[in-house]
Amino acid sequence: MGHLSNLNTKHYDVIVVGAGVIGAALAYELAQQGVKVALLEKSTPAAGASGAAGGMLAAHSEHFMNAELHHLALYSQSLYSKLATDLLEQTGIDIGLRTEGFLLPLTEKDSKLLHEERLYEDQSQENSNDQSSNTQYQNAQHQLDHQDFFRDNDILSNIETIDHTNTNTNTNTNTNTNTNTNTNTKKWWSPSYLAQVEPQLYAPSGMIYNPDEPQLIPALLNQALVQAAIQYGVDFYPETEVLRLLYQQNTSQIKGVVSNKGNLSAEQVVLTTGISTQQLLAKEQYTLPFIPIKGELIEVSTPSKWLGHTIYGEGIYIIPKSDHRLWIGATSKPNRIDTNVEISAIAQLLSQAEQYLPAIGSATFVRCWSGIRPGTPDELPYLGRIEPITGLWTASGHYRNGILLAAGTAKYMAQALITNHTAHIPDCFAPARALQKCSDLAIRKGVTTWN
Ligand SMILES: Cc1cc2nc3c(=O)[nH]c(=O)nc-3n(C[C@H](O)[C@H](O)[C@H](O)COP(=O)(O)OP(=O)(O)OC[C@H]3O[C@@H](n4cnc5c(N)ncnc54)[C@H](O)[C@@H]3O)c2cc1C
Repeated sequence: MGHLSNLNTKHYDVIVVGAGVIGAALAYELAQQGVKVALLEKSTPAAGASGAAGGMLAAHSEHFMNAELHHLALYSQSLYSKLATDLLEQTGIDIGLRTEGFLLPLTEKDSKLLHEERLYEDQSQENSNDQSSNTQYQNAQHQLDHQDFFRDNDILSNIETIDHTNTNTNTNTNTNTNTNTNTNTKKWWSPSYLAQVEPQLYAPSGMIYNPDEPQLIPALLNQALVQAAIQYGVDFYPETEVLRLLYQQNTSQIKGVVSNKGNLSAEQVVLTTGISTQQLLAKEQYTLPFIPIKGELIEVSTPSKWLGHTIYGEGIYIIPKSDHRLWIGATSKPNRIDTNVEISAIAQLLSQAEQYLPAIGSATFVRCWSGIRPGTPDELPYLGRIEPITGLWTASGHYRNGILLAAGTAKYMAQALITNHTAHIPDCFAPARALQKCSDLAIRKGVTTWN
């Protein structure tokens, strides 16, 4: 951990401001590549959105409207298996990565179409009449084997085979984005099969099984990343709030930062301050728009294992964690920056969860919490330079997928900082698309501050 008494004598290659998952992952990545890094956090790791997240790495299940974001999500997801192993080895922290996969409810339209294809199912049952007690299971298995049939009938219109092998985001360096995550193997699980696999689950139309979606404990990921970064030589300064930037005299070249504990110097500063990035830039007289989106979650414990897979519904998810705990989330409240949990939110989440787990009312309440998702108007993160200020960068605005995107973001950003090139980062992520110089009046009128 960094020593606070003598900050103004310290010089770094890069100062990373904000130790949520994005800042911590970046500091860890940079340090592994030999960069001298200071990581500053006004509170503690996971104090922001990162500590409030559900921890789903839903690269295939999320409806990404932007192909580049989808690609980053797939790439990033592919890094987590090794990352979890590395972090465990280096820090002893198990980030709780679970790979059972997700179950997605069918939409009404899907169910109707599926019903129309019953004949196909019946035939499969006839064919297996001579088989004995495990017929049901075999029928389900038969359907799994024939998933392409359903795919061709648009029955599972949200099931797609993703092939990004020709997508060129890897230009000239060592960021390997050519992963094996391109093919997603979603399948339909019949009610009878589900009754065996998830007996507590109510799913009269069956569900879509997606084996390729892991999930983890975000706060543990965040803490492990900071610990691992420290082990690689990063100076970590908790309880250290960056107040403003320092410039070389009469230039727009960054010289460092002013914090509540003193000054630090570096030619490169990265704002990984989530929703607070807007506030910091406003002090430099720039506006970069964010949309805060509050989310609330609850945790319950169940007397035995009620769920093995994450249920990923429309507006509701239920994530099984260790010790028979279930995380149920999440509300979505735009332009809300308070972090209280409303009783109506708890009621809403429980009522939605009950549709899938009818027994949920008999589970034991453990805790509830909330966080603010760092949304942006186009729902794309800001990754890259804050152009007019030489040496200033940001990686923020990861909205509802920052845990998923952290590992990939760290690779993209580390490569950019080390090579001083951004060609590998798709233009659609460039902060320049939304950055504006603002007048003092605009700052006073339009910019909210979030602490
Ligand atoms: C309810 C909810 C559920 C979610 N579920 C998921 C999910 O299942 N999967 C997923 O991928 N994503 C999920 N997300 C989104 C994810 O949590 C965020 O996208 C991600 O955590 C953003 O990380 P960050 O590091 O940019 O921001 P933060 O975690 O907010 O970190 C920013 C850090 O900067 C610090 N900071 C701010 N200002 C300063 C300053 N001036 N000086 C020093 N430090 C400063 C803050 O204290 C904070 O620690 C969820 C979010 C919420 C709220």
